[in-house]
Amino acid sequence: MPESKRYTGLIEKYRARMPVSASTRLISLGEGNTPLIRLENIPATLGKDVELYIKYEGLNPTGSFKDRGMTMAVTQAVAEGSRAIICASTGNTSAAAAAYAARAGITAFVLIPEGKIALGKLAQAMIHGAVVIQIRGNFDAGMALVKEVAEQTPVTIVNSINPYRLQGQKTAAFEIVDALGRAPDFHCLPVGNAGNITAHWIGYSEYAGQQTAACAFCAGQCKYPHPAVTGKRPVMVGYQAAGAAPFLRGHMVDHPETIATAIRIGHPQSWEHAWTVQKESAGWFDECTDAEILAAQKLLTEKEGIFCEPASATSVAGALRDIRSGKIPQGSSVVCTLTGHGLKDPDTAIRQCQGDMLTVDAELGAVKTAILDNMT
Ligand SMILES: *Cc1c(COP(=O)(O)O)cnc(C)c1O
Repeated sequence: MPESKRYTGLIEKYRARMPVSASTRLISLGEGNTPLIRLENIPATLGKDVELYIKYEGLNPTGSFKDRGMTMAVTQAVAEGSRAIICASTGNTSAAAAAYAARAGITAFVLIPEGKIALGKLAQAMIHGAVVIQIRGNFDAGMALVKEVAEQTPVTIVNSINPYRLQGQKTAAFEIVDALGRAPDFHCLPVGNAGNITAHWIGYSEYAGQQTAACAFCAGQCKYPHPAVTGKRPVMVGYQAAGAAPFLRGHMVDHPETIATAIRIGHPQSWEHAWTVQKESAGWFDECTDAEILAAQKLLTEKEGIFCEPASATSVAGALRDIRSGKIPQGSSVVCTLTGHGLKDPDTAIRQCQGDMLTVDAELGAVKTAILDNMT
């Protein structure tokens, strides 16, 4: 294949809309370009006429959308001459930071909450050679420490408070519009720090040729206006886990708890931006219980063959409820972001399936019986 046809990541793909110059060394692992899958079986069970799509971000290089932000944040850090990056993480940011730092040849320091990160994510941070610092505290405590330590040591923060992260993540919205030929009517996301919902809104706004106060680069006064690609922007809907739902409470939550560890966040870093997104898009926030989240995760795996981690399923749990109730009306096109791959958290998956495995003797009769007894 000619070199020019090879997909080389989202900065290259959307170069004209990214904060890089012709000479910038791009730190990429071929992130982005994830499938937009139309659900076929779940909508039929709803009795509602909706076009429901999944943006399967678990298929990024390290298994979550964080790669979109990390390629841009690490590219910028290297361009600025930084030798080390740092983040607080519920898991996926640390996995992405570790991988992109390895690619760039710099050091990644990651602060994670002791005992509260999914197994796959911990494995990734460790195997890529990040310096993993477990803290006896939650994500919010880690984030506060990262902000302080970055003032006293030569490290670049690559959490989503780094505006380059959102510039990378906005490309998910571009891809959706490119794939559908238009923006969807509704876009549903799980919300933790609210960086991703903000980034999507920035992307949709840019493609619609409209300003948004949520963009730190423009703050409603875009210095780099681009030609519009689509006429409209979607309604943005953010779903939180009920035990970690500051946007529903209207204030920060000090002891967030949920099985969806990726969104176990009580002090969202993009608090103001997310409210801007809600207002500008005429969207809303809602919450899902852990039981609803796990049920949606299982439904996707069993009915559609799509395996996401629990936090990701929050978008589908919420969207299905709002479609059933009519809050998302019939005839709508809806995109749900599945933020991370199911293999990130094998423990939670297996725990949901206790009793689903048969153990028999290694003998033809026993295997045949097991098959015939379980034909549907
Ligand atoms: C980071 C993350 C989220 C939350 O995204 P925010 O930008 O913090 O709102 C949701 N799901 C998964 C799998 C994540 O890794």
